[in-house]
Amino acid sequence: MNKLEIKHLSKTYPNGVKALDDLSLTIENGMFGLLGPNGAGKSTLMRTLAMLQEPQTGEIFFNGVNVVSNPDQIRSVLGYLPQEFGVYPKVSARNLLDHIAVLKGISNRNERKDQINFLLQQTNLYEHRKKAVSTFSGGMRQRFGIAQALLGNPKLVIVDEPTAGLDPEERNRFLNLLSEIGEQIIIVLSTHLVDDVLDLCSKMAILNRGKILCQGNPLELTASL
Ligand code: ADP
Ligand code: ADP
Repeated sequence: MNKLEIKHLSKTYPNGVKALDDLSLTIENGMFGLLGPNGAGKSTLMRTLAMLQEPQTGEIFFNGVNVVSNPDQIRSVLGYLPQEFGVYPKVSARNLLDHIAVLKGISNRNERKDQINFLLQQTNLYEHRKKAVSTFSGGMRQRFGIAQALLGNPKLVIVDEPTAGLDPEERNRFLNLLSEIGEQIIIVLSTHLVDDVLDLCSKMAILNRGKILCQGNPLELTASL
C-alpha cells in the first residue's frame, strides 16, 4: 500500500494570490479525484506534488519519505502528465519515449525497449510508434502523455485535467486506460468535471480557493452538488 501525505501546504504567488491555503490531505492506492473550479489551486497542487514547484510552508511525504528534501528518491517513482503536454517534436513516438526513459534513468536498452513496447500497446499507439508526436490528434497526445508518465513503473502518477480538449470517444478511451493501470499505485487526477471523478475515482476531494472543502466517496459527495 502506497501513501501520500500532504500536510499544511500553503502557496501565495508574488501577486498576492493564495493558491494553496493550509491544505492537508492523505491519499492511498487507487484513483483519487481532485475536483474544483478554475482557479481553485488544482494545478498549483499538482505541480507541487510533481516537485516542479516548492511549497512555501508545509510538507509532503510519500511512503514516509519527505518529498521536498529527497527529490531524487521521489522522482524515480513519480509520473506526471501536465495539463498541457506541450512537447510535440518531429521525433517519432517510440524514439521520444526512449529519450524520456533515458532521462528517467532506465539505463538498460532492452529494459527500455520492453517497457516502451508494452506502454505503446497499452495506449493503443503501437501502430503509430514510428510517427512524429507532432502529427498526433489530441486524444493520441493524451495517451502518449500517459505512456511517458508510466515509464519506469511509477508508484505515484499525477494527471492534471487530462480530459480537457478530448472528444467524448477519446475521453472514454483515455479514462478506460487510466482505470486499467490499476489499483496498485496512487493516481491523482485533477479535473473541473464531476463526470471524470464519478466515472473513475474511488475517492475524491473538492478543492476551492486553495482549501479542501470535503472529501470521501464520489457518489455520496457529488449527490449534493
Ligand atoms: P486551477 O488549476 O484549479 O485552475 P491554479 O493552481 O492554476 O488553479 O491557480 C490558482 C490560483 O493561482 C488562480 O487564481 C491563478 O490565477 C493563480 N496562479 C496560478 N499560477 C500562478 C502564477 N504562476 N502566478 C500568479 N498567480 C498564479
Ligand atoms: P488552469 O487552467 O489550471 O487554471 P491557469 O490558466 O491558471 O491554469 O494557468 C496557466 C499557466 O499560467 C500556469 O503556468 C500558471 O502558473 C500561470 N498563471 C496562472 N495565473 C497566473 C497569474 N495570475 N499570473 C501569472 N501566471 C499565472
